[in-house]
Amino acid sequence: MQDFRQFAAKNGLKIAETGPCQLCGAGVERGVEECLRVFGDLAGLLRSEKEYAQAHLFSVDAHALQHAEIHGVLNNHVHLLGLCLMLERGASAAMGTRKPAVEKFLALGREWPPLPAPAARERGALTALDVARATAARRPAMARRWAEEVWDAYRVHQPWARRTLDRLAHD
Ligand SMILES: [Zn+2]
Repeated sequence: MQDFRQFAAKNGLKIAETGPCQLCGAGVERGVEECLRVFGDLAGLLRSEKEYAQAHLFSVDAHALQHAEIHGVLNNHVHLLGLCLMLERGASAAMGTRKPAVEKFLALGREWPPLPAPAARERGALTALDVARATAARRPAMARRWAEEVWDAYRVHQPWARRTLDRLAHD
């Protein structure tokens, strides 16, 4: 949990310890750290909520892309490819289904163009808190809507994601 602070420092982000999440705008009280905890709690639902387990990758990608500054340099690349696969190409959003595609991408080992995130708090209005607070019945759809919002916020990079997936399919 602490290494998010190292990434933040590396990316010149000063972590606020109180108030809403400075990156996604979630209405938490203890900033990014609490936002990460809320997201972690979603993963804790995978066993008890089978339907949500089929949609959890939407949350994984949405949260990672809303918090680019506390992740590694290829964060946006990997998670944009993930959203493109699920939202445009019908890939599963169930945990554990993604690995081959990600590995194939990373194995290319090319120099990728930087894919900078939109301004903080302009990365989709929904947050992990909305998915956490939804009823179990509504949670999977909420996760998908969250992912759609984030994908839209990153629309300038969508052509890169589509091109890269096309290339991966033919390599
Ligand atoms: Zn957040």
